[in-house]
Amino acid sequence: MTACALAPLGQGTRQSRRTRPNGRPLTAALGIKKINVMAKMSNKERRLRIFRYGSRAIAKYTKGDFSLYYCPICGVGYPESSAITGEELTLEDVPPKSIGGKPILLTCRRCNSSAGHTIDVCTGSKIKFEKVGRVICGQEKGTIPFATLSMADFNIVVSICADQSFDVRPVPNANAPATIEKYKEHLINLSGNNTNGFEFKLSMTQKYDYRFFKLSHLKSAFLLVFAWLGYRYAFDPRLEVVRQQIQEPEKDILGTRFWIEGNESMPLKKVMFLRNPLPTFLVSFDGFAIVLPSLESPADVYNTLSSHWNKGQRVDIEAQVLLDVWPDRLQMKLDYR
Ligand SMILES: [Zn+2]
Repeated sequence: MTACALAPLGQGTRQSRRTRPNGRPLTAALGIKKINVMAKMSNKERRLRIFRYGSRAIAKYTKGDFSLYYCPICGVGYPESSAITGEELTLEDVPPKSIGGKPILLTCRRCNSSAGHTIDVCTGSKIKFEKVGRVICGQEKGTIPFATLSMADFNIVVSICADQSFDVRPVPNANAPATIEKYKEHLINLSGNNTNGFEFKLSMTQKYDYRFFKLSHLKSAFLLVFAWLGYRYAFDPRLEVVRQQIQEPEKDILGTRFWIEGNESMPLKKVMFLRNPLPTFLVSFDGFAIVLPSLESPADVYNTLSSHWNKGQRVDIEAQVLLDVWPDRLQMKLDYR
């Protein structure tokens, strides 16, 4: 059975609360008040639960034992003790928390912290940049906590607050007292003089790299499909190039051939199947989609795709929706089939 043969999910029926033949809830009929117990799972419990589900999945796939959980990115196996301490196996937010992700699986510390942090930080940075643009242009109320104001011969760290008015204020802890005094002096001088031709510059320093931003979404898309289909998908040879690129973001292995710029008609948060020109998965985000190999794809899917699509070419895509919502926990449908 291939991945694309999976029927669209989310169509199953779920048994709702228990009812009596007359339709009244059983608890109500017995005079029992419904009590909601909000049991919050600890991170250790969550890691263990994911470990056990994942290690059983790999055991089914390899027909081996279920003593190890394998990091889906680098493929290294870890024992249960790594999930208990959380030192080597860590909860991974998919997609990054800054865009609403939740900790649905485990990756090893190296993949989560080093490679992951390098690229995932750019997703948060892009959101901040967009907010800064909207606040400065007056399209949104809000505060920008740190910016550098350059005046005459000195710089000062300021916060910008756009509410009823547009306030630029020095940040006390981020400046030497002498700098703040110089700033006040400068403003007093300005208030008594003609300010025509006065120039100042506001700048922000934030690490942001558009290629890393795209790689962060490649990683999220890969992990979302892993959560859905499992190790049988993630460890397929077609996915090796994707896993390698995520582990080594500094190396330009894939370029941006996995990226499709969409428009407002691009569905949000879906996993889709594209049959033409090649059988591939599309994982859609907000206005763009990531192309991933399916288990029907040719071996070198990205190079083959390049030969079908020229850079910058407009393409009309007809894709079948396989998953209407992203998985919010490990499902591993192919391993557990
Ligand atoms: Zn890893």
